[in-house]
Amino acid sequence: MARATLEVAQVLKRTKERLEHYSSNTWQLRTLHAIRKCRTAALGGHIDSCTNSSCNKLHLSYNSCRNRHCPKCQGHKQELWIRKREEELLNVPHYHVVFTLPDTINTLCLYRPKEVYTLLFASAWSVIKDFGSNPKFLGARMGMIAILHTWGQNLSLHPHLHCIVPGGGMTAAGNWKDIAKAKSGYRKARYLFPVKAMSTVFRARFVAGLKKQFEQPISFYEALFKKNWVVYCKAPFYQNRHVVEYLGRYTHKIAISNHRIVSLKDNKVTFSTKDYRRGGAKYKLILPDAEFIRRFCLHILPKGFTRIRHYGILSSS
Ligand SMILES: [Zn+2]
Ligand SMILES: [Zn+2]
Repeated sequence: MARATLEVAQVLKRTKERLEHYSSNTWQLRTLHAIRKCRTAALGGHIDSCTNSSCNKLHLSYNSCRNRHCPKCQGHKQELWIRKREEELLNVPHYHVVFTLPDTINTLCLYRPKEVYTLLFASAWSVIKDFGSNPKFLGARMGMIAILHTWGQNLSLHPHLHCIVPGGGMTAAGNWKDIAKAKSGYRKARYLFPVKAMSTVFRARFVAGLKKQFEQPISFYEALFKKNWVVYCKAPFYQNRHVVEYLGRYTHKIAISNHRIVSLKDNKVTFSTKDYRRGGAKYKLILPDAEFIRRFCLHILPKGFTRIRHYGILSSS
């Protein structure tokens, strides 16, 4: 893809003096400055002689910030990541399951992101693992790759977990058991497990985990149970390259790529977005710089937080 001409870094440059007011902690502020300075003289540079024999000149390139939230540094990492994923996938169909948190949790996500997102990973895996080991559904040990996304299309907070789950598992005897062959009467192989049951168990486990860690008024927990929690199960990918392509193109992303920015005029950021409630219709959203950066900061994960995790038969330990 050609390099985007408009960049998040430009917004950060023109608001440089005010960034500390737009971010809510020093880690976010450090991240914003790193992205602002990425591939500029501020980070230093290196000189390489050109490998193109018709050129042979010396080229100066500035160093990258390598921050994982940086739109400029993302592309390269993505390629390496995809190649690694391809090697580790099993040669079976893979299901894509998405676990989404209701917006009632959003405030907690802002103040205690590490705890809440860790719990999201743990609850999702406990659902997949236990449904899988249940003989009614499969009766085998499963695996999962989970990727945390915290954003919706308009950059607002919308935490959800994309899980890629191989369609089967290992039996106690060490044999592969295919989920399509294990299905009982009512269940088609199109879905991994019944989504309603998964949603109910997911909600119960997540809320139980919250109760253990946070003291909140009873009404807070009651409100959580009144909501329908959504576990979304998509049709399986039958070929590994489709899984990897999907992961690469749609899942391994940051909150906003530079390519979505269409204008930076008048201290406002205009970017293209999709409305999934209207069948994915495209539209343009205009945000003042301050609001754009505030939303961008919602998606800066706690320092060192692992946003891609491997479980069960797909974990290396
Ligand atoms: Zn960078
Ligand atoms: Zn997502």
